[in-house]
Amino acid sequence: MTAPARTETLVIIGSGPAAWTAAIYAARANLDPVVYEGEPSREMIPGGQLMWTTDIDNFPGFPEGVDGQGLMDRMKQQAVRFGTRVESENIASVDFSQRPFVLRPSWSEPIAAKAVIVATGARAIWLDVPNEARLAQTGGGVSACAVCDGALPFFRDKVLAVVGGGDSAMEEATYLTKFAREVVIIHRRDAFRASKVMADRALNHPKIRVEWHSQVTEVIGDDEITGVRLRDTRTGEERTLEVGGLFVAIGHTPNTAFLDGQLATTQAGYIETPTSWRTETSVEGVFAAGDVIDEYYRQAITSAGSGCMAALEAERWLAHHEA
Ligand code: FAD
Ligand code: NAP
Repeated sequence: MTAPARTETLVIIGSGPAAWTAAIYAARANLDPVVYEGEPSREMIPGGQLMWTTDIDNFPGFPEGVDGQGLMDRMKQQAVRFGTRVESENIASVDFSQRPFVLRPSWSEPIAAKAVIVATGARAIWLDVPNEARLAQTGGGVSACAVCDGALPFFRDKVLAVVGGGDSAMEEATYLTKFAREVVIIHRRDAFRASKVMADRALNHPKIRVEWHSQVTEVIGDDEITGVRLRDTRTGEERTLEVGGLFVAIGHTPNTAFLDGQLATTQAGYIETPTSWRTETSVEGVFAAGDVIDEYYRQAITSAGSGCMAALEAERWLAHHEA
């Protein structure tokens, strides 16, 4: 194996709100951080999940709203302004069993790092059907986050569909009743996976109805969604349901595969930070922030907040160990 080319004080892996906020704090603390922002792929883009969306109306400081790419660009510029270095590569694998830690980028030489912040986020699982990705990226009425997008004028007083049968789908459907004329939950089976209390809340809501045994096979619409094609999972029969918005709530996956099990994770695969309000992981000197540790809030502002926490903790840890 090739020896590490150089030793960095702090490497930040990821490029969403958590990573750039950590970089801003670390650079201002003279830790000379380097960010590995990742490579574009079908599932992930440098800049993180907000690169997939248009209007962000709940990030403080932007009373008129801000577009996702614009916000991420500004965060990156702010980190670079204080001296953050940026590498446009994935970290493909890590070795946390030796110190300094060894990180292997996709194609360049391995590097060593005294401390690491993992801020690789999570990704919404999509249905992977025609027109879904296009209308999600262009603000055409397809979303994976009701709390983020549900209040937008686009969705007001329309019939909105939510796909999924878990707690997320129940929560999204119930939340959307505040804005929608009607909410239709589309589920592929005849029973919800969600907890009874959340399923009952949705089922008893006067604005919510359910299309059971139904799988979305296509999103219909040019600039805006007008409906979805549904296939009956028992008979295979197809039909069209007219809707003015689609919220996909079939789960999230944290981006942790490259860690190869070297950090303790929860059952769902999120990195464990055993002490509450701390970002330390199961390996001393490795911190984690953002959606990769958070299966509950999953918001830009909470990710940014935990990025700040991780940088402050890394700074204190490095100061203590270097002293
Ligand atoms: P992410 O944004 O998930 O970014 C992590 C990035 O790190 C990845 O995208 C990838 O580029 C990079 N990366 C991953 N693995 C590696 C690796 N091995 N090496 C190097 N780089 C890697 N939240 C809100 O608060 N308001 C909204 O309006 C809102 N709208 C949303 C709309 C959509 C469509 C989606 C999907 C999410 C939305 N969210 C919104 C949620 C918000 O985007 C996330 O909570 C937030 O982006 C999480 O930030 P993060 O820093 O944890 O990581
Ligand atoms: P989940 O429990 O895994 O449920 C995913 C749902 O999506 C399932 O009903 C599944 O159907 C369906 N699904 C999966 N892939 C699909 C596909 N390709 N096409 C159509 N449907 C598909 O995920 P989640 O609801 O996001 O919840 C994740 C975890 O977070 C759970 O532990 C949950 O309890 C927790 N959570 C808690 C709260 C809360 O307590 N407030 C809120 C949200 C989430 P099947 O049932 O047929 O498999």
